[in-house]
Amino acid sequence: MSRRVLVIGAHSADFVWRAAGAMATATAAGGVAEVVALSYGERGESGELWKEPGQTVENVKRLRHAEAQAAAAHLGASFRCLDLGDYPLQIDTAALLQIAAVIREFAPDVLVTHTDTDPFNPDHPVAHAAVDRARGLAAGAGVQSAFATIAPPALFLFEPHQPELCNFTPTTFVDITAVMDAKRAAMGEMKAQRYLHTYYEQRAAQRGNHARRASGAKHVEYAEAFQRVIPQLVAEL
Ligand SMILES: [Zn+2]
Repeated sequence: MSRRVLVIGAHSADFVWRAAGAMATATAAGGVAEVVALSYGERGESGELWKEPGQTVENVKRLRHAEAQAAAAHLGASFRCLDLGDYPLQIDTAALLQIAAVIREFAPDVLVTHTDTDPFNPDHPVAHAAVDRARGLAAGAGVQSAFATIAPPALFLFEPHQPELCNFTPTTFVDITAVMDAKRAAMGEMKAQRYLHTYYEQRAAQRGNHARRASGAKHVEYAEAFQRVIPQLVAEL
């Protein structure tokens, strides 16, 4: 079944570590995937780029845009950035309505964002709150509204860097074995955060182990973990 997957992250590289495999899996099955970054992470998450003497915010944004676009292309996905600023990311009413409009326009089956807590990151919980609220504005209250609404998308949280400190409990594993090379290629584009490549390669292998144990599916080598927020309707258990 082809799906429309929308991943909204606080910073332009967040999607690649945490949902690249799920996005590549969706597009390989004929679905559509889009990344929307609320900022470039230009000040707080572009470590390598700030080692360059004379570096500027505008140049970092330009490089981060190119990196994210190239990474998304490896996954068959598109990338756009709302450029709302980082460290701190601040969401005013105009930004909230902009995010709601993005969700309404794309009309995703699946919406993916950050967890509500992260003691080491000032922007990820802000992104969670904004996306959760914008999702409610885009979908309405399930009744006729004074504004255009979309069918409520499934809401998933992707895995944070230190899950046990971020209210993250996996409910869903995506088998990304077949697309792991695409995820590696996407991660490889994020040259400003080389220190994360090995970390998330290992995480995918560990989650693959957990997915095998949870399901008995021995062929799973690599997986990504997600936490489902909205109850799922099924025909039978
Ligand atoms: Zn981030």
